Amino acid sequence: DVRLSDRVNSIKPSPTLAVTNKAAELKAAGHNIIGLGAGEPDFDTPQHIKDAAIAAINNGFTKYTAVDGTPGLKKAIIAKFKRDNNLDYAANQILVSCGGKQSFFNLALAFINPGDEVIIPAPYWVSYPDMVLIAEGVPVIVKCGEEQRFKITAEQLEAAITPKTRLLVLNSPSNPTGMIYTKEELKALAEVLRRHPQVYVASDDMYEPIRWSGPFYNIVNVAPDLYDRTLVLNGVSKAYAMTGWRIGYAAGPASIIKAMTKVQSQSTSNPTSISQVAAEAALNGPQDVLQPMIEAFKRRHDLVVNGLNAINGISCLDADGAFYAYASIRPVIRALGLKSCTEFSEWLLNKTGVAVVPGDAFGLGGYMRISYATADSVLEDALKRIKDAVDSID
Ligand code: PLP
Repeated sequence: DVRLSDRVNSIKPSPTLAVTNKAAELKAAGHNIIGLGAGEPDFDTPQHIKDAAIAAINNGFTKYTAVDGTPGLKKAIIAKFKRDNNLDYAANQILVSCGGKQSFFNLALAFINPGDEVIIPAPYWVSYPDMVLIAEGVPVIVKCGEEQRFKITAEQLEAAITPKTRLLVLNSPSNPTGMIYTKEELKALAEVLRRHPQVYVASDDMYEPIRWSGPFYNIVNVAPDLYDRTLVLNGVSKAYAMTGWRIGYAAGPASIIKAMTKVQSQSTSNPTSISQVAAEAALNGPQDVLQPMIEAFKRRHDLVVNGLNAINGISCLDADGAFYAYASIRPVIRALGLKSCTEFSEWLLNKTGVAVVPGDAFGLGGYMRISYATADSVLEDALKRIKDAVDSID
């Protein structure tokens, strides 16, 4: 056996990608599979964004750019923060990366020392703990149940902080729950953070525009005094249906952004030049292209949440945004005599061909995550299959 690094042995492959691949394999083998695993809008990238990229290719904009992003895209990002979030950043406070994933990866490597603790409320986006582990930090998982709408409370935060805590990760709207932190909830968290000046915040706002519950606030909006210790992470992947283009961005204190840029300069260098032009068009262009997508997500949210709640033994809270339903399936797991939601998702895939991601992957078991970024008719089919299968359990 080849000896591999302890670092790589400490992590696991992304479970959401694993479900997506398993579903694709079964599909290729001729099975009638509905994949509800991938966190990816089914919409096409808007035409004006594609046109900008095509023009970039034809104009020869196909060479290295500055590691931290083109001046044009950074300007568009600065304008976006001002327009949508009322936040002011200078160019040296912005880093453009190959997707939101790389933004967080850069942060972990630039900011975390071995043994440093990072507080991650669960259920969480699958990559946070593993990226902290790669940086040899310690993920401190705080379970946030359904009764608190899957959000960390001020009391929980206070209890989780130790002298070793370096970072708190907040993700709103959330993957996998679709929940959004209210102004009041963020204010209460900020109050705790004020007592612990060594703790920084990563605010992952990746799903910001995909919401139906009123205005959006991140922690800096409600606590401007935390500006100097907050990294705001965002990107075009989900909002503009641009997952394959690989553009995310980070904004925060210049010294941290500079360190993250150094990490990126020794890994990928700049994100793809062509994608940067596309992202600039997305941020500077008409924002009303988002509206039909958001309306579709809301319609599907209602369809899926109502459909799930109509199944005996399954229950699901209404979400505020994103495109995920995080449904409790504990009674069904019990009725089947299974041990975990992971076993349930295997049972479901074999029995019905519907692929979902088990809650275990997100650090809070007893649930399944359904991504409803897919056609209404497909969702209706999936709901019917799940209902029939669960109704048939005796
Ligand atoms: N942050 C959250 C909460 C996500 O769900 C995702 C994607 O699944 C990302 C960041 C990363 O997005 P990207 O595709 O831009 O790397």
